Amino acid sequence: MRTILQKSLKDSIVKCQVCPHYCVLKPGDIGKCQVRKNKAGEIVLLYENLVVATHIDPIEKKPLYHFLRGTTTYSIALAGCNMKCPWCQNYAISQIDSSYPRHQTINPQTHIENAIKSGCNSISYTYSEPTIYLEHALETMKLAKQHNLKNVWVTNGFFTKETREKILPFVDAFNIDLKAADDHTYKTMMNARLDPVLDNIKALYKAKKHLEITTLIIPGMNDSTKQLNKMGELIKEYASTDVPWHLSRFFPSYLMKNKPKTPRKTMKKAKYIADDLGFKNSYLGNMF
Ligand code: SF4
Repeated sequence: MRTILQKSLKDSIVKCQVCPHYCVLKPGDIGKCQVRKNKAGEIVLLYENLVVATHIDPIEKKPLYHFLRGTTTYSIALAGCNMKCPWCQNYAISQIDSSYPRHQTINPQTHIENAIKSGCNSISYTYSEPTIYLEHALETMKLAKQHNLKNVWVTNGFFTKETREKILPFVDAFNIDLKAADDHTYKTMMNARLDPVLDNIKALYKAKKHLEITTLIIPGMNDSTKQLNKMGELIKEYASTDVPWHLSRFFPSYLMKNKPKTPRKTMKKAKYIADDLGFKNSYLGNMF
């Protein structure tokens, strides 16, 4: 399948405009997300409709605490991600571990039927990065609207203005990760950049979309008083302290199995900082 948001350059080279990596692909090249490939001068999907996860979740698990509370959401994911977070809980699907056995071809219409059958009020594009399976998500979202289902986009926020304009008419609620307060951490730890994430937070807030933000608090990376304060200040600057802020506790995972889990006292500090900055709704998550 030919992808959307691609621009032909010279000599069959094509630029992908889906995420801020803006990969420039020669014939045969695969993008950083590992799912988009230049095939003879046009970008195609390597895994069309190849769904790696479907699950019925409480909406609060996304996490969204101020949107359709008490309902269930039909969660879907396709493989791939445009970040390389070494702590990823879902690395088997986000980083496309070939040993991951569970994947099946499911078309968007089937998601709708399954969501309705399961009594869900919404469909969540989640677990991996929905930006990477934009075409599948868009088709599903359009059908969802026709069937009175809401669409929930759970994202790292690293998508382009072009992608934002495509999805904005169909998404009802966003949960965006703010993973650090500085560009250096985004570059060195995630192979991404902070600015596009902040631009999206600002644009979605301005567009009056339902928005909640999540920060996974990782010892030694973003748990200092300075980093936590700065992240809160950024949310304040680019959106508002009205936006619910989920402060989530880190547990060792993937390439960070040697890190300690976040101490409870650090989580309490984060909550104190959020309250002090004036956040009306900040929540601690993973506190088991
Ligand atoms: S989605 Fe992002 S990472 Fe993937 S090919 Fe396009 S620009 Fe590159």
